[in-house]
Amino acid sequence: EAKGQGKGRHVVFDDRMDQRTAEQSRLAADLRSALDTDQLHLLYQPIVAMPGGELAAVEALVRWTHPDRGPIGPAVFIPAAERTGLIVPLGAWILEQACRQAIRWQQTMGAAAPGSVSVNVSARQLREAGFAGEVAAVLRRTGLPPHVLTVEVTETAVFDGGTALDELKSIAALGVKIALDDFGTGHSSLGLLRTCPADVLKVDKSFVDDVTADGPQAVVVAALISICDGMRLRAVAEGVETAEQAARLYELGYRYAQGYFYGRPMPPEDIATYRPAHGPATQL
Ligand code: C2E
Ligand code: MG
Ligand code: MG
Ligand code: MG
Repeated sequence: EAKGQGKGRHVVFDDRMDQRTAEQSRLAADLRSALDTDQLHLLYQPIVAMPGGELAAVEALVRWTHPDRGPIGPAVFIPAAERTGLIVPLGAWILEQACRQAIRWQQTMGAAAPGSVSVNVSARQLREAGFAGEVAAVLRRTGLPPHVLTVEVTETAVFDGGTALDELKSIAALGVKIALDDFGTGHSSLGLLRTCPADVLKVDKSFVDDVTADGPQAVVVAALISICDGMRLRAVAEGVETAEQAARLYELGYRYAQGYFYGRPMPPEDIATYRPAHGPATQL
């Protein structure tokens, strides 16, 4: 009886796996044509200076409007793109779009333009030989000064072994800034902070979520700001959603933040009119 049940469950499980695999390949096939048919666009989320909330930088975040299924989030289609290798042409398109937009802001906003535009780069892209050369080529083509571009990579991507770290060093040598994304969720090796040419450390939302409670998460957030200060890394708190979190982060020494409290990902034209929505975090 129990054995029969187990067997039944196993079959259901296999069915679901097949469904998921089929779903993934359908998604990948659709994504292939999405690039050529204008279904993808980039939104930009403010990265602000605390306590005032002034615009310091932006992060480019890709969006896909599927012709039948409507909006599909990157958390769903980026993994599919990575598995199929489609992330390589997709990532190249994203990088070029973001650099073009950065130049446009410099032309239209002058000194008020975002000081940096962050682009997420996946492990698969970083593994690709000649990726740093591609970054250099995009900068040449668009005329964007290298220091205005920030490449966001996860610890896991850098740890991928192979040539990822070398590629990252070549990108840093161009003058492009490097940010370690989602810090705290991967290997979080302090050795990596020494060998990796990082300029920015983005403290993952999962730690920020609990920064106002007396728990281990808050201790990690406090410890990371000391490490960043000591290593001359710029710390950015990700996923700040409340005034209380912002105030606590500021108190701990954080000076940069990103999250819904300050601004959601928005179309590029809204960045030009972005104004701090909240008063100084210190007065909260
Ligand atoms: P990420 O790079 O860590 O980007 C931050 C994610 O957190 C974004 O989700 C953003 O919309 C979301 N977020 C920001 N503030 C808040 C907040 O206060 N609360 C909550 N709940 N969420 C917040 P998004 O745009 O769905 O992207 C998810 C992930 O997909 C990104 O995480 C990144 O890993 C990947 N991704 C997005 N765009 C790209 C891209 O152009 N290329 C690559 N390779 N990956 C991308
Ligand atoms: Mg990111
Ligand atoms: Mg992140
Ligand atoms: Mg994240």
